Amino acid sequence: MTRKINKLLIANRGEIACRVISTCQRLGIKTVAVFSDADANALHVAMADEAVHIGPAPAAESYLRADKILAAAKQTRADAVHPGYGFLSENPEFSEACAKNNIIFVGPSATSMRAMALKGAAKKLMVEADVPVVPGYHGDDQTLETLSVEAEKIGFPVLIKAVAGGGGKGMRTVRSAQELEAGIEAARREGENAFGNGKLLIEKLIEIPRHIELQVFGDSDGNAVHLFERDCSLQRRHQKVVEEAPAPGMSDTMRRAMGDAAVRAAESIGYEGAGTIEFIVDVANGLDDANFYFMEMNTRLQVEHPVTEMITGLDLVEWQLMIAEGQPLPLSQDEIDVLVDGHAVEVRLYAEDPENDFLPAIGKIGHFDPFADVVSGGRIDAGVRAGDTVTIHYDPMIGKLIAWGEDRAEAIETLTNLVTDTPVTGVTSNRDFLLRTLKHPDFIAGNVHTGFIAEHTTALMQPIALSASDYAMATFAIVAARQNNKTSDDPWGLTDNFRLNMTATEKLWFNVDGEGFLTADMLETGTTLTATIGDEAFTAENALFVDGTLTITIDGLQQRHAVSVSASEVTLVLGDRTIVVNRHLRDGSADDDADGPGTITAPMPGKILDVKVSEGEEVSKGDPLLVLEAMKMEQTITAPKDGFVTNLSVSTGDQITGGAVMLIIEEKQE
Ligand code: ADP
Ligand code: ADP
Ligand code: MG
Repeated sequence: MTRKINKLLIANRGEIACRVISTCQRLGIKTVAVFSDADANALHVAMADEAVHIGPAPAAESYLRADKILAAAKQTRADAVHPGYGFLSENPEFSEACAKNNIIFVGPSATSMRAMALKGAAKKLMVEADVPVVPGYHGDDQTLETLSVEAEKIGFPVLIKAVAGGGGKGMRTVRSAQELEAGIEAARREGENAFGNGKLLIEKLIEIPRHIELQVFGDSDGNAVHLFERDCSLQRRHQKVVEEAPAPGMSDTMRRAMGDAAVRAAESIGYEGAGTIEFIVDVANGLDDANFYFMEMNTRLQVEHPVTEMITGLDLVEWQLMIAEGQPLPLSQDEIDVLVDGHAVEVRLYAEDPENDFLPAIGKIGHFDPFADVVSGGRIDAGVRAGDTVTIHYDPMIGKLIAWGEDRAEAIETLTNLVTDTPVTGVTSNRDFLLRTLKHPDFIAGNVHTGFIAEHTTALMQPIALSASDYAMATFAIVAARQNNKTSDDPWGLTDNFRLNMTATEKLWFNVDGEGFLTADMLETGTTLTATIGDEAFTAENALFVDGTLTITIDGLQQRHAVSVSASEVTLVLGDRTIVVNRHLRDGSADDDADGPGTITAPMPGKILDVKVSEGEEVSKGDPLLVLEAMKMEQTITAPKDGFVTNLSVSTGDQITGGAVMLIIEEKQE
């Protein structure tokens, strides 16, 4: 029995809600968005035909409220609900409640979800279906004695998993019998706290594994097919960061073996809709003929589904909707097998700080354009745009950047260009980290495994050292932004001492990573800006700041950079480097004499190379006072006005902190 979907409610937010809406727009299906207080102006709401408010920002009070979502579906007369991923997507009660209200749930039956919900029970089912599982224990007896005996039987190292776990949570690696009890306790606690279920399973820890998963689809006639594999081995904290299809180095024999196993798994539970069978592959001796084991099934659309779409030319959301309508699978396995073309790679762009253990970041997005013109072969799936805020309430993914190429090398190159062309400002992101990953020779060579990121930490986490030219560029950005009136919250914006075609000077202050601060002397002559940082002068022409983009000519070459300027910092995206320059607040004024007339402070941390004056000496404006070495440059500090040297507190060889008072020029008493 088929039933047409004319109007679809999307019970989700962010990029996946936008993704589903896009397909509906193409197919002429009306869409209904739901939104929390935090998302009133979100992109998914703007894209949908209708939108219903479902509660406060916390997910438990909005996107996880099945009752409110069903009420919204009834109110808007939606035929069907698409759950996206996360939230209610794998919640069997929600799927049943939809059915009870005569609303189509775009996903598998509650029975299929329940069969696969708990990792232990799912493994048991898979053993029956003759699908290989990771050797281990997934029994009901949870006593320490039994778990210890089983762990010994499996042999260390082992991995303890909460059976209800997800998103990489509730797992502990245990390398010896002595660590076992602590590992069990930790995994159990995490399982109880995060998923309300402390039951555990133990499996052999595969030391050098790849995560390779198969996209499957089943229909109501009991048929199932697979849409090839995805390699999701590049992970941090057991969560995917880079995904690709096909898996690098995958032979046809392996693909057939894994594909058959995946289809068997889906058919064994009469699976309907889109699902993913995740396998772990032991690649200690390479991928050819390697052992692969079922890990779990995700009974929903997967975050990384676009790479499958790009190598097959299929729209997986369209397939989901067709199957939910009760139609048969649109293509047979033979027809699908000939579709595969080229290679696709996806990266997940997260608001997070790779250098700080990938801690999620929050903030208002300054620069990010999900609708940007992308390089040929590129695709952006995102749910936020400039001006939106990444909050603590939801997953911090900004979006996904995906690229297709004739082969893997071309796909990686195109994706590298796409990421380079996609600046993010306003919120700390993993963009530069992704670029370093895509450019890493071992990644390019296809030597991927789940320990890749940990193994290459040093190469992937290079701290960004700021150079004098970076500070100069920040100075130009501040001046250009102010002239374009883009920073009304900028205290310097109030003291407008810049006028067209006149010479103006100004001193700007920056904090240097907890080491004090440095200054930039700005000189503007007509359309020429000169920033002097220490002893080095940088010149730029025609600086223009429009919509977060700085257009500037340096050495005759016009450049464009994404920039965001606030009262406290300047973020500049310079190609593959995103730099953040902190501004030093000086009582909200640009008065370069804020420390009192004639007070000479160290503009940056450094070393005194020479003291050219002595206490009480008379000096004239412009006379050299001190020579300072900072940022590997020599800088001569000159007298700002006529007077006498007093309070001289430094001598040659001294190491000084930024901001330290070095001497004071007192005016002559008339
Ligand atoms: P995938 O294999 O698709 O990455 P994950 O298990 O990492 O699967 O989860 C996919 C997405 O689902 C995550 O990015 C997150 O947004 C969401 N998600 C995962 N676990 C939860 C959870 N417990 N509650 C809410 N959302 C979740
Ligand atoms: P989740 O539900 O959190 O996604 P999974 O069981 O899918 O949990 O495992 C997540 C990740 O943990 C895998 O992608 C893999 O990197 C790692 N992992 C899982 N099982 C094993 C194992 N037996 N040996 C080594 N690594 C594993
Ligand atoms: Mg998983």
